[in-house]
Amino acid sequence: MGEEGFDFQVDHIISVIKDSGAEVVGLQFPEGFKRKSPAIAAQIESGTSVNVIISGNPCFGACDIDVALLDKVDMLFHFGHAPLDDNGLAGKTFFIEVRSRADVTEVVRKALPELSGHRICLITTVQHVHKLEDACRILETGGKECVIGRGDSKIAYPGQVLGCNFSAGRGEECDEYLYIGSGEFHPLGVSLATGKNVLIADPFVNEVRHADPSRVLRQRSAVIAKSLDAKVFGIIVSSKPGQERMQLAQDLKDLAVRHGMSAHIFTMDLVTPDQLLQFRVDAFVNTACPRLAVDEVGRFSAPMLTPQEFEIVLGERSWEALVFDEITGDCP
Ligand code: SF4
Repeated sequence: MGEEGFDFQVDHIISVIKDSGAEVVGLQFPEGFKRKSPAIAAQIESGTSVNVIISGNPCFGACDIDVALLDKVDMLFHFGHAPLDDNGLAGKTFFIEVRSRADVTEVVRKALPELSGHRICLITTVQHVHKLEDACRILETGGKECVIGRGDSKIAYPGQVLGCNFSAGRGEECDEYLYIGSGEFHPLGVSLATGKNVLIADPFVNEVRHADPSRVLRQRSAVIAKSLDAKVFGIIVSSKPGQERMQLAQDLKDLAVRHGMSAHIFTMDLVTPDQLLQFRVDAFVNTACPRLAVDEVGRFSAPMLTPQEFEIVLGERSWEALVFDEITGDCP
């Protein structure tokens, strides 16, 4: 589905701007929607009298508000994500969630015979949360029981999962999960967090497939194995508002010291392989975006562990308890 399959709510944005008296407005898009930004900026400028500034910085989540741009504008419209509970930037930041117009009913019907359990927990990203009730009705008509988990305080909508938060899945008793969306990361995370089967129903290509964590588990096991002899660790902390976990980094450093290891905390905004190239350590431990260690596996100059994998390296956690890292909030 092209970008026309998403709702950028330009009329709503224009009306919010007109009501606000703003003169300078910022726009921030995730990578997948950046190409759309000049056209949206032009529509906003012709529908209002504001000057629009577009953020060119990388953006991967609601954790990643362009704080420098926020300082220079009266309002910032952040596209593609729902708010997190604690970014502390509310007031001037407006989240435009960019809901998908894709029909999910056909792919959910297709998924029905593949579900072997009775009580099914539905999960999705913010792009499809408005379609979960439709999906539930199809499951119930097919004889299943449907549940949608509330999730913790990081989660804006019931059933929503983030790449760093699977609480909407973990909190519900169910036999099996049905994930509506594209991509593998979120369903793999729920599968590892719960130990249960996750069926993926991808409405963009009308395809149903099972999440298979075996390949990612092999990759993670290899990263852990490579770090077993490490003596010097670099603990990464991001300064992005929704990713900064300095206390966790400090706790991990203390843990390393208690195990007779050496550990240093490195802080930076965007964490990339190039950014870390000059730091000579035996292994990195990432407390920034939890997707980083998994998505960029093999691209860093030393193995990059998640905090949970670091605990395995130090013998504080069993290999069987390997899960994806999460940034969780308070449970309601
Ligand atoms: S920390 Fe990573 S996974 Fe979580 S919201 Fe930000 S970009 Fe997404």
